Amino acid sequence: MAADSTRWRTGPRGDRTLERSNALNQLLLGAVVLVAALLVLLTGPPADLGLLLAGLVLVFLISGLALAVPWNRLSPLWGALLPIADIIAIIILREASPTSGFALLWVFPATWLAGSFGLPGLAFGSVSISAIYWIIVGTDPDEAFGPAAFLIPLTIVAVSTTAYLSSRRATAQRSLLDKQARLLARTVERVQRQEDAVTEVLDAVDFGVIRIAADGSLSVTNEAHARLQQAAAPRGQTAASSRRAVYSSDGISPIDPQSEPLARARRGEAFESELVWYGAPGERRRALGITSRRLHDAEGKDVGGLVVSRDVTAEVTALRARDDLVASVSHELRTPLTSILGYIELVLDGEDLSPSARRQLGIAERNATRLLDIVADILTASADPRAGVELSVHQSEESLDAVVRAAVEAAAPRAAERRIAIDASGIEPTTAYIDPHRVRQVVDNLLSNAVKYGRDGGSVAVGVTSDVDHAWLAVRDDGPGISPEEVPRLFERFFRSDAVRNTSTYGSGLGLSISRDIVRSHGGEITVQSTPGDGSTFIARLPRRAPGGEA
Ligand code: ADP
Repeated sequence: MAADSTRWRTGPRGDRTLERSNALNQLLLGAVVLVAALLVLLTGPPADLGLLLAGLVLVFLISGLALAVPWNRLSPLWGALLPIADIIAIIILREASPTSGFALLWVFPATWLAGSFGLPGLAFGSVSISAIYWIIVGTDPDEAFGPAAFLIPLTIVAVSTTAYLSSRRATAQRSLLDKQARLLARTVERVQRQEDAVTEVLDAVDFGVIRIAADGSLSVTNEAHARLQQAAAPRGQTAASSRRAVYSSDGISPIDPQSEPLARARRGEAFESELVWYGAPGERRRALGITSRRLHDAEGKDVGGLVVSRDVTAEVTALRARDDLVASVSHELRTPLTSILGYIELVLDGEDLSPSARRQLGIAERNATRLLDIVADILTASADPRAGVELSVHQSEESLDAVVRAAVEAAAPRAAERRIAIDASGIEPTTAYIDPHRVRQVVDNLLSNAVKYGRDGGSVAVGVTSDVDHAWLAVRDDGPGISPEEVPRLFERFFRSDAVRNTSTYGSGLGLSISRDIVRSHGGEITVQSTPGDGSTFIARLPRRAPGGEA
């Protein structure tokens, strides 16, 4: 009965439960005593009126005490004095009128003791009341100690036991509820702490985070997001008061509100590192790299998305500054180089050159031409969409195989230098809707790469074929190939693989990027398949006829 004993030893000090239950128990008994005493008085004079009044006064005194004493501040054991005093008051009332059935009122203090003080209360109440009753009946010559003498103690024991059991059940339920309430409070506290930690982390990072709920509404945004919005707002205005114009990655094409990254993410679109500019050209503006991901629950159901935005203004500006510098330097180099080449040609045209001077001038001319090629590549690669400069392509129906054969012929001397055989047997007669000069640039570049990066004494195969809609060009070499990690970066501007960067093989890393631009502006695509150690195959797909043209 450990639970019971601790319960009545350590009553809750803060609340007033004990005061209320003591007052309730006592007032109930007081009211019943009052009604019973009135009935006794009305039905005839009691055996001893003085004793009846004394009993009544005692019950009132006890009721007064029950109401006045702050029981919650005392040890709960003090509360036991009330039912004990009531037992005594009922002895007096019974003595005043033995035949009126006052003895039944002992049920009240007995259940009070059993309900509030557990097993000890039950035992004390039952034993003391039964003993008192039997002493009174046994010592009074007027009372018969017959079977009726057991009825009252038995009733009291039965009712007290019921009170004890139901009180125990109530206590167990209360403690279960308390335990659950404490558990709930701890869980709420833990969730709150986790939420705070997530908010702190999100606010500390310097990229914007927006959580989009399944219905497209914004459920969480962090401080960095607000900072980025504010940084992109016009001076003197808050992000909320102004709608910033949004521009695509070129910085000049406006994006309408429905196509802004956030609007698309809210509609459920996912995308990776999209570059957009907030703010009009010439104004204070910011470049943001925005990624939108969809989130799914354990069952794979879409539960909204996450948008992460990063300020990439500094990176984008630095890249643009590099491109601008490279473009302007190349531009400045072109004029003197053309002049050098012109003079070399003039000298070479002369008759009076010694063979060794002619050979040396030939080397100078080859290198100057190579330099001019690089400069031309750089200028093509830095064709600036911001300035409206686009790669110009003038397409018409042309013989692709003729373009490719001419390129093979031109590459032959350089291939011969490295004893590389060019196999052109796969070139089928094919017409395509192309700009022959631009496509020649592509074939030249693919062939020169195949020869440059191929192995001495190896072979290069060139093929041209077509299907209903497309013409296909393939250039295959048996050189060292390209590692899978580098393949995705191959068509980036200025990219050169680690293997060649530290060799004497010249190159600017622009050829493939330009080739792809050219093929794409034809409406085609260029791809590569490569196995390290086995060589590489570049395949360009080109249109066979003008869009909408007949087969
Ligand atoms: P460049 O040849 O001027 O360096 P490209 O854009 O033509 O520039 O090529 C980029 C890089 O791709 C090269 O530097 C080289 O590392 C790699 N590459 C291109 N073609 C081949 C090839 N056929 N075999 C192996 N590596 C190649």
